[in-house]
Amino acid sequence: MTVNHGNFTLPEAEAYLTREPEMQVEKLSDRLYTITDGQVRTLFVAGDTGVIAFDTFGTPGKARAYHKAIAAALPGKAITTIIYTHDHLDSAGFAADLAPGAEIIADEMCAKVIKLRGAQGQIQPTRVLSGERHELTVDGVNLVLLNPGPTHGSGNIAAWLADEKVLFSADTVLANSKYGFMPDYHFANFVPFMRGFLELEWERFVPGRYEMTDRAGFERGVNFIEAVMTACQNAFVNFVPIWMYEPMKGFCIEQLSGDFGDLDGFEGHVGQMAIRIVHHYLMGGWGLEDTPDHQVLMADEVSL
Ligand SMILES: [Zn+2]
Repeated sequence: MTVNHGNFTLPEAEAYLTREPEMQVEKLSDRLYTITDGQVRTLFVAGDTGVIAFDTFGTPGKARAYHKAIAAALPGKAITTIIYTHDHLDSAGFAADLAPGAEIIADEMCAKVIKLRGAQGQIQPTRVLSGERHELTVDGVNLVLLNPGPTHGSGNIAAWLADEKVLFSADTVLANSKYGFMPDYHFANFVPFMRGFLELEWERFVPGRYEMTDRAGFERGVNFIEAVMTACQNAFVNFVPIWMYEPMKGFCIEQLSGDFGDLDGFEGHVGQMAIRIVHHYLMGGWGLEDTPDHQVLMADEVSL
């Protein structure tokens, strides 16, 4: 293949990898923009001299469409900084096709996973952050980057833009129930970490997918995930065959439709969510990140 192929090995994957979707851009403030291909959503910011882009979208074609949309919104400004919100290829896999010369900021854990993964097109971060909170000024833009601990993927960074009263946290809470399979979510501390973001002053929440929401929508999204976790535990109590899709879907609809049945995608996705979440209780979680001592995760095993 002549295009960057991430983890794909099949040459025919090029058809998927090169497709450039239509992007929708919305201006949120003088310098802040949100962009979506209809599924994934992210942010970019006009710096004093260049552009700060969060993530890259998930294929070379999508990264190029992202690049073109930024150039149309901010003509004459190059993308000088990329911030990876986490390691996943569908969010941050193709900096090589977005802006290969940019500075790339990421959490240490994210950088370590990217180094070991070696996916084609996913460029190694050039500036690595360790710890829970970083107040940065990048090209004249004040950013607070937060990683309270494992929530989704590796080294998930949320961005708080205090001037704009915006919080951005990719692939965590949605304004609907359309995440479904929830791979690589870390449930041990997910709800308290997410609720912790409510202590910050912000009015608009930008999720990594679909539509934006407000504080009430964010809280409801957290409550929904917590309620599915409770329903999953109740499925064990009621001896529901937790490994089977249809019984779990039916049980969760019965338990949750009163409070959450109006969420977009509820009936179509809650069964898949439940199949994933029951394994948190059945197996003990995804790995070391799903323990109270998540700080030990890969502590000194990979050198950058
Ligand atoms: Zn992700």
